[in-house]
Amino acid sequence: MIGRFSSVAAFVAEESPEVPVHLLRPHRLTAAARDFVSGFPGDTLYAVKCNAHPLVLETLRAEGIRHFDVASPMEIRRVKETVPDGVMFYHHPAKTPGQIRLAWDLGVKYFAVDCIDELEKVAKLTGSGMVPMVRLAIPKGSGAVYDLSTKFGAQPEIFMATLRRARAMGLETGVTFHVGSQCLDPGAFSLGIRLACGLIDEAGATVGLMDIGGGFPAYYRSTGAPPLATFFSLIDEERRNWAEPRGIRLACEPGRALASEGGSLLARVNLMKPEAIYLNDGIFGGLTEVYWGKGDLSLPYRAISPAGVLRTGAQRSFTAYGPTCDGNDKLPWPLELPGDTREGDYIEFNLLGAYGREMAASYNGMKSDAVAVIDADFAGHHGDEAA
Ligand SMILES: *Cc1c(COP(=O)(O)O)cnc(C)c1O
Repeated sequence: MIGRFSSVAAFVAEESPEVPVHLLRPHRLTAAARDFVSGFPGDTLYAVKCNAHPLVLETLRAEGIRHFDVASPMEIRRVKETVPDGVMFYHHPAKTPGQIRLAWDLGVKYFAVDCIDELEKVAKLTGSGMVPMVRLAIPKGSGAVYDLSTKFGAQPEIFMATLRRARAMGLETGVTFHVGSQCLDPGAFSLGIRLACGLIDEAGATVGLMDIGGGFPAYYRSTGAPPLATFFSLIDEERRNWAEPRGIRLACEPGRALASEGGSLLARVNLMKPEAIYLNDGIFGGLTEVYWGKGDLSLPYRAISPAGVLRTGAQRSFTAYGPTCDGNDKLPWPLELPGDTREGDYIEFNLLGAYGREMAASYNGMKSDAVAVIDADFAGHHGDEAA
């Protein structure tokens, strides 16, 4: 941790960093956590994979988020060390025996499974009190930028067979699904809740907890999704009509919607050519996710001079390249930058509190783990008329 600064301007003027820096805005994490804790009709788990920084976990815990979706020994240890009273859900449906034993030894009780083999493997390696969370696949085309049901999640017959097997083993059982990341359509959650309830009935199963996953959107420049409140009110309606009559409690496990506004990436302009700009970070670093999301993940950004002053002049279009020697290291969209942007300036990309630093690889020896805390909001960005 480099330190805490009142604003990005103050940070840049004081430190002139030459490496990419991941900026954290804890006050934005606090605001997002409050939205979920007060608005979601059930427990909110935090999906640790999108940002496992201890400050992120601590900030969310301070707002009452003490349930965590973890998927690896590293994430389990991180939660254990940072939030000792945290309740963990090991929501990876394909685990090794060593991972299961480690999780059980560190107090994990909830384990995702999406077939009978995984259920029996987990049951054999754990003890009484283990709760399998049977994961259902959600039909494709339900409104998300990323589909997460091709790789994991049981089709209806296997979902029901796994629920029946868990009952035969005498286990208290939960269910889970994930509508896909950056889901723009609240109806996807309705569909998941109704589908899961129908199959639970058909299987003759009793379920106490339904975790409806993450997937709640962040609001990028091009995102046309209704506000979170619309998601919450529709989900609450489904809860009253479908879950409550069956004695099922809801939970959710957002990553992106909780963490994205809590962080940004500060990249330095290393070289400029008439139509190209070379940055010190790119698609193999903190900007990895935009390579996959392309136009769906149009990050807000702004240019800042070495003295910390926002560039505001008339805009020109630049092809933006990352620092590695790989020709693919290029942003999928051009940067529209004020004409007075120059070498030594900084470009701050917002909404990278989720899937930013965590995805960065060390390709070409260029990974940066530098983190600083910023008190001021991100403002005056591209597309912001007031800038
Ligand atoms: C990635 C993931 C999440 C978080 O998804 P977001 O789209 O970031 O909200 C939640 N649950 C599981 C099982 C995941 O794999």
